[in-house]
Amino acid sequence: MPQSLTPSFHFHGCEIAAGERETVSLPVGQFLTGETTSLKVHIVHGKKPGLVMALTAAVHGDEVNGVEIIRRILASKALRSLRGTLLALPVVNTPAFAMRSRYLPDRRDLNRLFPGDESGSAGSRIARTLLEQVVARADLLIDFHTGAINRANLPQLRITREDPEARRLADAFASPVTLLAGDRDGSLRTSCRQMGKPCLLFEGGEALRLDAASIRYGVRGAQRVMRELGMLPAQRGKSHPVDTVFCKKSGWERAPSGGLFTPLIPLGRAVHVGETLGFVGDIHGSDEIPVTASRKGILIGRTNEGVVDRGDAVFHIGEFVDPNEAEEQIVEASATLSQTWQEVEDVPVPYDPVTDAV
Ligand SMILES: [Zn+2]
Repeated sequence: MPQSLTPSFHFHGCEIAAGERETVSLPVGQFLTGETTSLKVHIVHGKKPGLVMALTAAVHGDEVNGVEIIRRILASKALRSLRGTLLALPVVNTPAFAMRSRYLPDRRDLNRLFPGDESGSAGSRIARTLLEQVVARADLLIDFHTGAINRANLPQLRITREDPEARRLADAFASPVTLLAGDRDGSLRTSCRQMGKPCLLFEGGEALRLDAASIRYGVRGAQRVMRELGMLPAQRGKSHPVDTVFCKKSGWERAPSGGLFTPLIPLGRAVHVGETLGFVGDIHGSDEIPVTASRKGILIGRTNEGVVDRGDAVFHIGEFVDPNEAEEQIVEASATLSQTWQEVEDVPVPYDPVTDAV
């Protein structure tokens, strides 16, 4: 057998030959119980040389769609023709994941602790180890998130404004919507930008739920970026999916009063100023106060809670000059995936003011 010309990949004392896989544990700390905690990194080293891509999920411990997205990517046959190297971490925030919690055991948000500190708290050590051992070795990173508990997000990418490379890769990823965001102190995305590594942050679905459409968009998007970068062979005869809708700004509409909340529009829909998006019903009376849109765009996030306090954020709108055009684009894009979010009836309490009227 001729020796492979692709050099081995060296990672934390392990040598991974071309065409091989390895799972390596990076020690990060110790719990009060005395148990140690580590970051598990799956390394897939292609037979041919190429770029190094890092994939991370569960930086927030209860956001499980990304864990499944990475599991499916690692199990896919497509990786047999991988050029370059994948560094995949299905669970970054192990202590929070074990507790099914967004936050670390000390109640801190790991995504506000970057760049971290090797002699700091457990979360700070995880952040530091991830940056030094994984991100520093990678050419780019895709970080998978979801909305919070009972807060669903339309599959969407968030990238740093003024990052042309991230924008090119977001085009290739082709999620329904891409939000152009500013830096956020302490986040993994901002640390990546400071290290000069493009970072695509994917959001889809809600915490503690596996959502088929978000998972499909995530897997397909990551593989499309790998094709764009030459890490996977181009798919002949496959047409380019519909372009992602870029939103420069987003904002929340809030509950005008406390009570029972019924949303009237599903994720992905066009929203116009003055439109009724849902209503809050008085618990002890017949009053129904509408939630009205104060901005135009696309509904990219929504609470699924049936009860709200006054001022609770209920509808997240990605602003767009021509909402109808954006909606058409999103519907067209979803037609390229079977069983997408569109087919799911996501208005929990169907309400028809005409037929329901007594
Ligand atoms: Zn998150």
